[in-house]
Order: sequence, then C-alpha cells, then structure tokens
Amino acid sequence: MNQDAWGELREELKDTVGGNNYTNWIEPLEFVRLENGVATFFVPTHFMGDWVLRNFGDRILQASASVGFPVTRLRFTVPRVARPAPAARPRPTAQIAISDDLDLPGAPLDARFTFDRFVVGKPNELAHAAARRVAEGGEVTFNPLFLYGGVGLGKTHLMHAIAHELRSRSPELKVVYLSAEQFMYRFIQALRDKQMMDFKQLFRSVDVLMVDDVQFIAGKESTQEEFFHTFNALVDQNKQIIISADRAPGEIKDLEDRIKSRLQSGLVVDLHPTDYELRLGILQQKTEQQRGQHGNIPMANGVLEFLAHRISTNVRVLEGALMRLFAFASLVGKEITLDLTQDCLADILREADRKVTIEEIQRKVSEHYNIRLSDLIGPRRVRNIARPRQVAMWLAKRLTTRSLPEIGRRFGGRDHTTVMHGVRKIEELKAQDSQIAEDLELLRRALEA
Ligand code: ADP
Ligand code: MG
Repeated sequence: MNQDAWGELREELKDTVGGNNYTNWIEPLEFVRLENGVATFFVPTHFMGDWVLRNFGDRILQASASVGFPVTRLRFTVPRVARPAPAARPRPTAQIAISDDLDLPGAPLDARFTFDRFVVGKPNELAHAAARRVAEGGEVTFNPLFLYGGVGLGKTHLMHAIAHELRSRSPELKVVYLSAEQFMYRFIQALRDKQMMDFKQLFRSVDVLMVDDVQFIAGKESTQEEFFHTFNALVDQNKQIIISADRAPGEIKDLEDRIKSRLQSGLVVDLHPTDYELRLGILQQKTEQQRGQHGNIPMANGVLEFLAHRISTNVRVLEGALMRLFAFASLVGKEITLDLTQDCLADILREADRKVTIEEIQRKVSEHYNIRLSDLIGPRRVRNIARPRQVAMWLAKRLTTRSLPEIGRRFGGRDHTTVMHGVRKIEELKAQDSQIAEDLELLRRALEA
C-alpha cells in the first residue's frame, strides 16, 4: 500500500464508519508503511490506537483487501518526538503494538489479560482450568496445552494470563510468548542474517514457550520444519509448551501430519462460543472497569441484558460496544439508557443482526460435501446427497428461525415431516458418528463467523 491507496481506503471507510467516526478516528491516522502484511500508522496517543484497533480494526482490514492491498495486521505507534521535559508520564495503557526490540524473542504482554479479569462460564471453564493448571508451574503434566476456538473467545487472554502468573510466581523462568507469525519473521530474519545458530539456541533455552495462532504457519514449509524441531527439543527437555489456534489440530489444513499429531499429544481444549450468561458476566465485569475509568455514569436497568442478548458474536465486539457506550455517555454527560444504547451502537447492532439464511446454509453444505446445489435441493435420494441434505436441514432448523414447513418449501417443496425426519436423523447421528459431529461443528462455525 502507498499513500494513494491509503487515500482510497480512507474514502471507503468514510462510507462504512460514518462521518463523525471518520473525522474523529480515521482522519488523524498517519499511514507509515505496509510491510509483510502489517500496516503501520502513527497515532497521536496510545488510547487512540487502541480505540481504532478495537472499533474499526476489522473494517480497515476488510477495506484494505477491497483496494487491492490486503493487510493482515494493524500496528499503531505513537511517534517518538523530543518532548519538553518534564513530560507527563503517560498512563500505563495496554501495549497494542509488537515490540521493536528485536533481541527479545517474545512479544509484550497485555497488562489487562490476567486471570482476575477472565470471566469463567460454561463455554470456557475447561480451557480456564487447564490454563490455571499450567500457570501453577511445577511438574509438566500435559505437553503441549493446545487451546483452540473462534476469534475473540479469549485464547490470547488466557495465554497472557498464564505468562503473567508464571512470571510472578517464578521470575527466574524464561517465559516466552509470541504469535506464530512473529516466530516466522524471526526465523526468516535469522536465515537472512545467517544467525540460525543463535535462533535455535534462543528458542531452545526457554522454559515455557507459548505460540499464539499457530494456524498461521500452515502451508509455510520451512517455518513448520523449524517449529517442529524447536517443539521437539523443548518437549525432550520437559519444558512446557502452550499453543493456540482457531481450530483443532486435525482441522488445520496444510499442516504436516507429524506436527498435527505432535500438537494432539498433550491436552487439547476448546473454547466454545459464548452463551448468554457468560456474556452478561463479562459485561458486568467490564462495566465495573469502565466505571473505574469514566466515573460513576448511571445506567438504566436492562441495558446489559439487552447487549448480552443482541450481540452474540465474539467478546471483542461486546467489549468494544461497551467501551464506546461509556465514552459516549461520559462525553455528553448522559445516563446510559436503552435509547442511547441503540443510537450509539446502531452499526454494531445492525451487524449483529445479520442472520444466517437458508441459501447460505445450502451453499456452504454443498461446497463442504462437494455436491451440486441443484442436487442438494433436488429429488435425488442417493445416500451421498440425501445425507448432506439432512445436514443442511438440521442447520436450517438450528441456525434460523424458519419453521419446518418453510424449510421444507426451500428444499424443493418437501413436506414438513420429511424435514422433521431429517433433523431427527442428524441429531441421532451426531451422538454416534464423530465425523458428522465434526462436520456440523465446522459448518456451524463457518456460517456464524
Ligand atoms: P482470541 O485470542 O481468542 O481471538 P482474545 O483473547 O484476544 O481472543 O479476547 C478478545 C477480547 O475479549 C479481549 O479483550 C479479552 O480480554 C476479552 N475476553 C475474552 N474472553 C473473556 C472472558 N472470559 N472474560 C473477560 N474478557 C474476555
Ligand atoms: Mg488471539
């Protein structure tokens, strides 16, 4: 990307974020460079970078692809200018950018990602318990710990929490946290600078290695190779390894089988999509934190319940919504009411409302099973078509609010009893056939993403 493309991208964003947001948050960004998929911007303050990342990050990434310069990550940095002393000490905000300090193998930890601040509910209790166990240190019981789940469900939070805990319990331990992407860049850099010995030594000397978003190295052969060796060397020394990914090891495409099986050899735990209670719990906790920042802004009853009900995507979105709400209310000095909430969060609520359609389900299912859409809806009854059709019916029943007769109509005018039979059949198979269960989970995730 160059300045021109950034200009074009900004124009796109103007339409999607709205005039006010554009002037307040997008216009002040100063594009610096795009390198290895990472777009760097100067921002006036850390707070602003954090805000833009949380509220507009996804949209900037999307828009970047549409102007032909796909960006995979955003980095906001406050330019270092000579300040007249004594400068006010900036409030310790979260670190949002990757460290420039290339001698340290790890990335900085977000100070907010602690166990204290992690709300536990049914969907994440197992992952939380496993993370706690590893954070206690002591004897290595499962190696590696593999955490997986969709975006924004708390994988990075849990990993940082483990690192914080380990560092405070045992400061002598060398705990290294980094993303798989950073691992790759370091590896490439070491190759280029002919410092592979140093690289190997560095990574083999750590006590606890945490690699986030390991799906990133899928398809990157030499990085995988090096990762595999690092992994084995550490396991041999009985050093703890913690890995995260957006899906189960077996589902990561273009990852070597020996790595998959290595990743599966410890404990694999899943962070499930949030449920209403967990979302409400998280909102309550974050409200306390916002009050700490913005003072005691009054909030009408039912606002949190409304948000927990309406925003069912990931926690990051939920958090961003609450932050914006408090920032807005404190700016205009008003109570947070339902009306104000609906006004202030109109775009997020609209987005969250995007419902899965039967067409999408049919398309995804036929892609998944590699059959024609016309066959899926058509009259043929051979097993390799009838089964996917039942899967699609089951998904339509689960993910949409359509009635059985309506679903029947959309599947080539079938009777509602046929749909009911199909849904029951899949329900039954789901409990017996792990392949079907996996297919359903995969499809559901893809559709709800
Ligand atoms: P992931 O790495 O799975 O994409 P993150 O760990 O980055 O997700 O979480 C996204 C945001 O949501 C973070 O700000 C994190 O603090 C917050 N979050 C996720 N789960 C929880 C939870 N259970 N309790 C409190 N905050 C959470
Ligand atoms: Mg993450």
